[in-house]
Amino acid sequence: MANLKMFIDGEWKESETLETRPVINPANGEVISYSPEGTAVDARAAIFAARRAFEEGVWSGISAQERASYLFKIADKIEEYADELTQLETMDNGKPLREAGFDIGDAAACFRYYAGLITKPDGYTYHVADPMQAMVVREPVGVCGLIVPWNYPLLMSVWKIAPALAAGNTIVFKPSEVTPVTPKKLFEIFEEVGLPKGVANMVMGAGPVVGHEIASHPEVDMISFTGGTKTGKHIMKTAADTMKKVSLELGGKSPNIIFADADFETAVDYALFGIFSGSGQVCSAGSRILVEESIYDKFVERFVERAKKIKVGAGNDPITEMGPLVSEQHLEKILHYIEVGLEEGATIACGGKRIVSKGLEKGFFVEPTVFINVKPEMKIVQEEIFGPVVVIQKFQDESEAVKLANNTIYGLAGAVFSNDGAKALRVIKKLRAGITWVNSYHPTYNEAPWGGYKQSGIGRSLGTFGLEEFQEIKQININLQVEPIGWFSN
Ligand code: NAD
Repeated sequence: MANLKMFIDGEWKESETLETRPVINPANGEVISYSPEGTAVDARAAIFAARRAFEEGVWSGISAQERASYLFKIADKIEEYADELTQLETMDNGKPLREAGFDIGDAAACFRYYAGLITKPDGYTYHVADPMQAMVVREPVGVCGLIVPWNYPLLMSVWKIAPALAAGNTIVFKPSEVTPVTPKKLFEIFEEVGLPKGVANMVMGAGPVVGHEIASHPEVDMISFTGGTKTGKHIMKTAADTMKKVSLELGGKSPNIIFADADFETAVDYALFGIFSGSGQVCSAGSRILVEESIYDKFVERFVERAKKIKVGAGNDPITEMGPLVSEQHLEKILHYIEVGLEEGATIACGGKRIVSKGLEKGFFVEPTVFINVKPEMKIVQEEIFGPVVVIQKFQDESEAVKLANNTIYGLAGAVFSNDGAKALRVIKKLRAGITWVNSYHPTYNEAPWGGYKQSGIGRSLGTFGLEEFQEIKQININLQVEPIGWFSN
């Protein structure tokens, strides 16, 4: 694959220093390309281009229908290149082709959703005292800095770019330094459909350099970030100096609560899907399974039996069900957490090791790993591991399930499995989490808001809420009887 470039003011650019970094295929450790190591100077060039494009109104000043027509074309192009994008996503991130294919389809659908939404009525009028007429309109925020992680390289980008552009903003986008390949292809599509220069800019490079410049620069009006909670806190502090609007989608340690009256095989099946899809590198992963005491042993036995049979392999092998971790550094982090779990006294019911069998020895593979005999205060129960590692906890009754479920700093997602509808809803309503499921795990819809409570974030992606994040609200008061107010006598 040719070396990647950044996209700044409608031009493909290398880093001003010409420095690059290798892009690695996590299934075999091979270098697939090199990406520019962008600098603060590169980031500023992108910010100034976005600022100019915003002020000139080449995007915010055109009709919503016109913007929508670009977005519809982008969606069509994503579908036209779906096979290529799917292959690239698997090569760069490691996820199985089946998962990558879903992401690409969702990305096209997300552009279509926001293309449709932006032409629908918005704003309000108010009945205020005569002779005034009050109304509220929505306007773009301005220049939006968008920073995303590596776990869904294309989809996480699109969750931000589609609503930001739909709303009329111009953007400075930074993909993860680990997975820049499909975002670069997306920007090729932007060029192909003829987005005006400076509207969409992409700078690659390290978070503390490029990301920091975007988060701190006064010409950036808003920062929308998806990534780890620690980085999110740093970005929030950085953005505070210029009082940017901030939207944060952060980490999670989500509970999956299974009652004894649940459909047993369905619960086991979704629990496996909840943690091991995406190799557990999913913010909303059901990484804490809470099981009612009376079925605990039976559940662990069946869950472990099935976890051991998951086919781990390279994402481009059609029989693969779980791919590698995204990078060697991330592999080391996961292995470290497994050691910590053992040191803390938890028991491994299956997995726990790097896979070095023939053909996988150069990749970053870890066995699906299940911890039992865990205590609520253990690190492996409290901290986001972000890999194929799950803890299975035991609870006695509804109130203990809720207490354990809410007992972390996070509040992203959660699920309840039960055939007692009232109980399931009671528990869901007590979960301090923004995304929940009953008798299911993981389905996500462009139409519905996505985001967390507590330290899992601020604001929402997707749906109407996701568009509003990228809009300012303006109050307009019109005097229908133009004559002096006469407040002062002289
Ligand atoms: P990360 O926080 O390390 O990096 C995310 C992005 O931030 C990258 O582009 C990185 O370069 C950039 N960055 C790093 N330091 C920065 C700084 N000082 N200033 C500005 N930008 C900086 O996260 P990651 O390891 O790439 O992704 C995994 C995390 O993302 C997990 O915690 C996961 O839960 C979270 N995530 C959350 C959601 C959600 O919707 N809530 C979705 C996907 C991933």
